[in-house]
Amino acid sequence: MNHDESRALYDRALSVLPGGVNSSVRATRPYPFFVEHGDGAHVVDADGNRYVDYVMGYGPLLYGHDPPDAVQAAVQSHAADGPMYGAPTEVEVDLAEFVARHVPSVEMVRFVNSGTEATVSAVRLARGYTGRDKIVVMQGGYHGAQESTLVEGSPDGAEPSSPGIPSSFAEHTIPVPFNDTDAIEAVFEEHGEDIAAILTEPILGNTGIVLPVDGYLERLRELTEAHNSLLIFDEVITGFRVGGLQCAQGKFGVTPDVTTFGKIVGGGFPVGAIGGRSDIIEQFTPAGEVFQSGTFSGHPVTMAAGYEYLKYAAENDVYEHVNRLGERLRRGISEIAADQAPAYTVVGTDSMFKTVFTREGPGDGSEDVCDAGCRQRESCARFDHCPKTGADVSDAETERWERLFWQEMKARAIFLTANQFESQFVSYAHTDEDVEETLEAYKEAL
Ligand SMILES: *Cc1c(COP(=O)(O)O)cnc(C)c1O
Repeated sequence: MNHDESRALYDRALSVLPGGVNSSVRATRPYPFFVEHGDGAHVVDADGNRYVDYVMGYGPLLYGHDPPDAVQAAVQSHAADGPMYGAPTEVEVDLAEFVARHVPSVEMVRFVNSGTEATVSAVRLARGYTGRDKIVVMQGGYHGAQESTLVEGSPDGAEPSSPGIPSSFAEHTIPVPFNDTDAIEAVFEEHGEDIAAILTEPILGNTGIVLPVDGYLERLRELTEAHNSLLIFDEVITGFRVGGLQCAQGKFGVTPDVTTFGKIVGGGFPVGAIGGRSDIIEQFTPAGEVFQSGTFSGHPVTMAAGYEYLKYAAENDVYEHVNRLGERLRRGISEIAADQAPAYTVVGTDSMFKTVFTREGPGDGSEDVCDAGCRQRESCARFDHCPKTGADVSDAETERWERLFWQEMKARAIFLTANQFESQFVSYAHTDEDVEETLEAYKEAL
C-alpha cells in the first residue's frame, strides 16, 4: 500500500492544525490516511487505497457512506432552500415528534450541535432543576469535551483530567467505578442530598464496550429516585443503535429522567439533543430559566437528515441487518481469539464490537463462555476476567492495539478505531462478504 499522498497532506496539516487533526483520535500512528471519499461500507484514501470501514465516523453513520435516497434528497433540498434561518422550521418538529414517539424517557427534546453540547446542557439542566451541584459520573465514561466531566479520581476526590480546567470544577463531580453497586450506594449515603444527577452511558461505549452487570442500571434508577436526584443516560453513542429506535434504555428496560443524544440522530451532520420528561426539559429557556441557546441548533439540514435516517430505519430491516452482522463478527472474532489469543475479550452488542486485549483469562476455550461477545453473565467461565470498569480496559494491552494491531489491520485494508478504547460499528452497507474478509484479517493480525 502506498501512502505518499496522505503523508504529504499530513505534512501540510501539521503546520496549521495542532497534531495535524481536528479531533484527537484521528491522529493515528505514524500518520493518518486522508480520506478522499466514502463508498458504501468502504472509504478510499488520498492514494486510492480502499478499506472496509468500521469507524463509521465514530458512530453516526448507520448507513455507511451512501445514505438512502430519501436522506440524500432531503439534505439537498434543505441545503438549497436556506440553508438556515434563525426561525423555526417544520422539520425540527418532525424529528422531535419522532424521538418522543420512540424513546421511552422522552416527552420533549431540545436540539443542539454536538454530543458535548448536549451533556453540558443536561448537566446545567439537572443542576437548575434540582438546585444541587454534584454530578456523579463513571470512571472511564465519556461525555465529550466538557469541564464538569473531564475528571479523574475516586469518590474521595476528583481532579480535572486536562490542563485548563480549574480544580474547583472537579469538586462538584464524583467519579465512581461502573458496575460497582457498593461504591454508588456509599456515595449516595454520604452525598445524597447534594447530588443533582448521575450521568452515565448505559453501556460504556468509549472505553472498550462495557455492558452493565445484571441489576446495575436498575439500582441507579432506585437510588436517584430515593434521593430526588435525576438519572441522565448519555445515549450519544447508543442512541438509535443499541436497542434500535427505543435506544439502550428500551433494551435494558430502565427509563432515565433525561437522555442525551448525538451521532446517529443527526444523520451524519453535527448534532446533539437533550430529551426527557416535559416538566424537566421545560426548565430550558425560553420556557424556563435554565439558559440554553444556539445559532445552529435545530439546523434544518441536520434535522432533515436525522428525520429521514430514522424514518428509513423504522420502515426497513436496518437493525436486523446491522445486528446480525455485528453478532457474526463478535462470534467469529471470539473463535479466533479462543484459538490464538485466549486472554482477549470480545465485547459489544447489537452493531457495536471491539476486542479488548485483556491480559489474562481462562485457558483452553473449552469452558462455558459467552460465544458472541461478553454479556456479563455471572455463570460464564470468563466472568471475573472480563472488563467491568473503565480501569479494567485501561489495564489491557493498549499499546499493542495502537502500535501493532491497528497497523496490521490497516495493511489488510480494514479500518478500525485507532485505539483500544473506541468502539467499532457495523453499518447497513456492510455485507456478509465484508465480514468474511474482516475475519480473515483478524485471523492473520491477532
Ligand atoms: C461521542 C460522545 C459524546 C460527545 O459527542 P460529540 O458530538 O463528539 O461532542 C458524548 N457522549 C458520548 C457517550 C459519546 O459517545
